[in-house]
Amino acid sequence: MIKSLRGTKDILSKEIILWRFLEDTARDLFNIYGYKEIRTPIIEEAALFIKSVGPTTDIGQKEMFVFKDRGGRDIALRPEATAGVVRAYIENILGVSLGLSKFFYIGAMFRGERPQAGRQRQFHQLGVEAIGSDSPFLDAEVIALSEEYLKSAGIKDYRIKINSLGCKKDKPNITDFYKKELKGRIEELCPDCKKRIERSVLRIFDCKNNRCRAVVNSLTPIIEVICLDCQQHYKAVKDSLSEIGCNFIEDSFLARGLDYYTRTVFEITSDSLGAKDAIGAGGRYDNLVKDLGGKKDTPAIGFAFGIERLLIATDEALREKKTTSIKSDVFIATATRSSYNEAFRFLKWLREERFVSEIDYDGRSLKSQMRRAEKLGARFVVIFGEEELKKGRVVLRDMQKGEQEEVELSKAIEKIKGFL
Ligand code: AMP
Repeated sequence: MIKSLRGTKDILSKEIILWRFLEDTARDLFNIYGYKEIRTPIIEEAALFIKSVGPTTDIGQKEMFVFKDRGGRDIALRPEATAGVVRAYIENILGVSLGLSKFFYIGAMFRGERPQAGRQRQFHQLGVEAIGSDSPFLDAEVIALSEEYLKSAGIKDYRIKINSLGCKKDKPNITDFYKKELKGRIEELCPDCKKRIERSVLRIFDCKNNRCRAVVNSLTPIIEVICLDCQQHYKAVKDSLSEIGCNFIEDSFLARGLDYYTRTVFEITSDSLGAKDAIGAGGRYDNLVKDLGGKKDTPAIGFAFGIERLLIATDEALREKKTTSIKSDVFIATATRSSYNEAFRFLKWLREERFVSEIDYDGRSLKSQMRRAEKLGARFVVIFGEEELKKGRVVLRDMQKGEQEEVELSKAIEKIKGFL
């Protein structure tokens, strides 16, 4: 038997209701904030992602699914959405027609990670990108929107951590600064972080090793190393967030894994997932549009939530409510094959009237048809019996009351309409 690939999952109908709830909540809310949906391809040139997330990151080094097309080009399954949205923004010259361009997306992403709870190879994200402004108010809006989304989705135990990574000019200074600071303490670091000092020093900030964490926490905060402009920008973001009552925590060593981030970065964790994994993350990427071929400097910011992780973080009660399948309104039972045509016509009518309705196709016994009606949670069963049909009548069974009566077909319609 062929089985699903490791790290991929079927999303079964029972769970779809909760998925749809999370997606619909996002659509409604993002629309209110002026974000318009965009759907970019799942496959892109691999170079797009290497250029954007960076060649030394986990994604750039080992996590991308890359294959050659017939023309020998390297094609990647998208590991994240920002790069594709920015490519679409540049390619479709959206900046000219829209000015500040606000997009949201919902879709599948792919990373070759070791699968575990809340970590898959095909997973799903929903997120926003606002391209074309460096205003700190936009940062505040995006962060506040992420909080608003969590509230609307009924997720309670979240924490929003924010920090600033400085601008393009600050980046080499930051790297040099921490290389110097950490070289003096190299013996306290784990073997991986020892190597990271030269290769990608900020990734040491993400190390989960306790000794590395202790070293990191004793370092000079990033915010003290960045330029005055960026410090002021960061302060304006914080002031604005406080003004609108957004709950955030400052995390001086939040560095985020991807190369394109500048200035404000943020990460949202939830107690339900344990400290290890974020449910969402985002930040500014002021240079990405230019780096990917945009004509002018176009500052931007966005965030992404992992839908599988949101599902883990949703409240138990909500999950229960949203995983109950839709019940049938009417089940049609047929006593004989000869009553089927009449019954089928009635079923068509019911569906045109938007009643959720079902029938038995396989000529099962009346008893087993009633069992199925019960299983489907049908409110009414209409039984088409041969004798009754001759009189233009059917048996209408009210499943809730456990009562049934023989009525004319038109009367059955009236009754069903009256109750549903
Ligand atoms: P990132 O693009 O790495 O910042 O990820 C943004 C969000 O996507 C994370 O906070 C997770 O919620 C989700 N995510 C990232 N990678 C995975 C994965 N392999 N499986 C499930 N969710 C993921």
